[in-house]
Amino acid sequence: MSADIKSFYRVYRPKTFHEVVGQDFVTKTLSNQITAGKLGHAYLFCGTRGTGKTSVAKVFADAVNCENFHDGKVCGKCAWCQSTNKSMDIFEIDAASNNGVDAVRDLIESVKYPPVVGKYKVYIIDEVHMFSGAAFNALLKTLEEPPAHVIFILATTEPHKLLPTVQSRCLRFNFQNVALADIEKVVADVFQKEKITADAAAITAIAKEGQGSVRDALSFADTVAAYCGKEPITVAAINRVVGGLDAQVFTNLVTQISAGDAKAVRDTVNQIFGTATATARILQGTLSAIKDAYVAKPSPRLATALKIFANLETTLKYATDPHGYFETAALVACGA
Ligand SMILES: [Zn+2]
Repeated sequence: MSADIKSFYRVYRPKTFHEVVGQDFVTKTLSNQITAGKLGHAYLFCGTRGTGKTSVAKVFADAVNCENFHDGKVCGKCAWCQSTNKSMDIFEIDAASNNGVDAVRDLIESVKYPPVVGKYKVYIIDEVHMFSGAAFNALLKTLEEPPAHVIFILATTEPHKLLPTVQSRCLRFNFQNVALADIEKVVADVFQKEKITADAAAITAIAKEGQGSVRDALSFADTVAAYCGKEPITVAAINRVVGGLDAQVFTNLVTQISAGDAKAVRDTVNQIFGTATATARILQGTLSAIKDAYVAKPSPRLATALKIFANLETTLKYATDPHGYFETAALVACGA
């Protein structure tokens, strides 16, 4: 696989409500709202990473602008559907990287102007909990009374970090972790389209890696497919990809953290990152080992470690140096 090939997740991102997996309640409700012409002006999409919040937001933004949305689908024929300038009316803001009040001021200035192509200007704000307090305050009034041509979609993995005043201004939708069988179907479908051979056990193993997230499963599928090249994907090959990352390495790490052994912790972290690059899997393995250790024998250090690593998820997702952040967290937990 060459480096310029886009990831499976990006290539096979759902384009319609029907293609979204595992969020039937959300897609059906949104679709019905469009058909009934009863749209809210602010939506809050909550759920863990990779459950489809941004994908659904994009599908929704497209669907509200179609002139003949019908049966859960855009028509493909109207001026909006045919337009190549949709990006003039659909805006995506990543609050993790634009969290200051200036970004919000630009946004507020922009909402005043009517849409260029469609009926609505849609603002999708990803990881909205990362906005600073000042940024939220600046946004509140606009969020309460946006112009009629504006729809906000706020997406977050951590809704509890949002002010109640923000939450109360939005229609909230909770995204569920996607069921294993649904993720298996997505992986099997992608492999079929990519003409990649994989047996059923391998597909299940890849789907399980997603832990409820289609994105994580497909990103793992990318890694495995790249490793296997033209060879069929098997469980044995998958085990080679994840290498020494069995539960034992995480148990070792937690034992070393509990013992306050900084040198051993650093060595184990190096071993982990030398074997695997899937940060979601590394974090999950660590959290699960801490939980097991805490259940076996509760201690304040393990409770602290659990908090430290649980707070690391978003940081790792955006970090250019996840190894460094993870190692620092492990050393802090270790008391070094
Ligand atoms: Zn249309």
